Amino acid sequence: MDGPTTSTFEVRSPVDGRLLAEVADFAPAQVAEAVTTLRTAQPAWEALGPKGRARWMRRLRDWLLDEAEHLADVLQAESGKPRAEAQLEAPWMAELINYFADHAREFLADERVGSSGLLSATKRMVKVHRPYPVVGVISPWNYPLAMPGMDVIPALLAGSAVLLKPSEVTPLSALELARGWREIGAPPVLAVATGSAPAGQALVDVVDFVQFTGSTGTGRLVAHRAVDRLVPYSLELGGKDPAIVLADADLDRAVAGVAWGALFNSGQACVSIERVYVEDSIHDSFVSRLTTLVDGLRHGEEKTPYAVDTAAMATMAQRNLVHRHVTEALASGARALTGGRPTGVGTGYRPTVLVDVDHSMTCIREETFGPTIPVIRVADADEAVRLANDSSYGLSATIWTRDLARGQSIARRLDVGAVNINDAYANLFALTLPHGGWKTSGSGARFGGAHGLRKYTRQQAITTPRFPTLEREPAWFPYSRRRAQLTRHLFHAVAARDLRRRIPRIVRSRRWPGARSG
Ligand code: NDP
Repeated sequence: MDGPTTSTFEVRSPVDGRLLAEVADFAPAQVAEAVTTLRTAQPAWEALGPKGRARWMRRLRDWLLDEAEHLADVLQAESGKPRAEAQLEAPWMAELINYFADHAREFLADERVGSSGLLSATKRMVKVHRPYPVVGVISPWNYPLAMPGMDVIPALLAGSAVLLKPSEVTPLSALELARGWREIGAPPVLAVATGSAPAGQALVDVVDFVQFTGSTGTGRLVAHRAVDRLVPYSLELGGKDPAIVLADADLDRAVAGVAWGALFNSGQACVSIERVYVEDSIHDSFVSRLTTLVDGLRHGEEKTPYAVDTAAMATMAQRNLVHRHVTEALASGARALTGGRPTGVGTGYRPTVLVDVDHSMTCIREETFGPTIPVIRVADADEAVRLANDSSYGLSATIWTRDLARGQSIARRLDVGAVNINDAYANLFALTLPHGGWKTSGSGARFGGAHGLRKYTRQQAITTPRFPTLEREPAWFPYSRRRAQLTRHLFHAVAARDLRRRIPRIVRSRRWPGARSG
């Protein structure tokens, strides 16, 4: 049995390896203990109701906005991303709070439902959304504040207590979120269990609902464990998002959008553009402009804010994976028109445009999660759709065309959870839309209006009599022939949809089936 531990692990800068902090490495027993404490606090949190909880969330929003610069410092230090990107996460969390706090009462309101027929006509019926007591959130390292926040905030608003297990690579922003929660004086329904895979496993073993964001491989392990316990789970997993650039695209926008969609956060995003299919007639011109743009990006260590466009990757392991995909592609005949190698400083990798790529290469088949843009020439939209769908992943896609109606019709042929026309990432900022992957990119969805909160709740059905009640119902004990027949005929009369089956039943009612002769 695991006992309490005082173990810690180091958090280091991916840029220069300097030590940023030492944080607790939660042992399984400590994870269980944290959940026990959260369970004690959760009923009072649930009892506050959506309005009361929204008040606390709005205080957290104000804290996030007041601390935005400091939070950007922390998440930039642990992830190595450029300032222009680091500074977006806190205000994005604040906006997420606004949406769900403003709609929590509506989304979680009891729902009066009508009767389904005569058998329930004497009842008043209501559907109640009751939270899972403790939600476990497991998050990755690519958006150290936003990734945890996107799940923690709706789960808290739904009335659950939350135990968050951030990635061991970037735990400091999650700890900041917990600090904010404490500093506003909110009830103790949010805790952070820092640690590595064993802490995540231990969390799955004790919570009532698992919200996991991370790789498809780990998601599968998490799902197996959750199924063993019969607890529900929702998985946001990896992707290999295609971009389809049609011959009629606004080329300037398509080039700029594909470059940003592929290289934002050094390509370390689930919805990053990871393969580009370009119609033959514009392929060469698209590639040439894309290469010029990517070549001109400022890349490297950010000594002063906004001095670079792309920066370090979050881990050396991720940088090495990217380089493996690139070198395997080059060895199989692809060409890097720009980039194609590490910078040699920390975890940096040069933004890379690859051409002469085919569909068997790892840079097309596997998630790269890095700053690469493999481009494939296609004859027409049909070929682009066929190749885009030729993937085990199905997170999202982009289509670049001036013909918006055609773009929409092509979108409906793609096997992915979201399609953005002439834009990248757009669906992520639309909280009224679902964000969820198809195929091996996920199970369940993150947002999508009311579902974003209701996914953390169980539906409870409550019936109440509408009229004064009898001493006992005809179907109750003790059974007698007369009352059993009455019940039987009532059920038949209710179920039948024509007179012959309703009335003759009543006429035949005098006959007991067992007494039938001949
Ligand atoms: P991982 O799957 O490696 O890790 C995700 C989280 O799970 C981390 O906190 C990790 O801890 C934890 N973990 C690792 N092993 C286990 C386990 N056996 N049981 C429970 N938890 C475990 O993903 P990365 O952190 O490497 O993130 C990158 C991946 O996340 C990419 O595939 C990307 O596509 C995906 N992703 C998907 C998103 C989406 O919305 N669809 C959004 C963002 C990322 P630790 O790090 O400490 O080992």
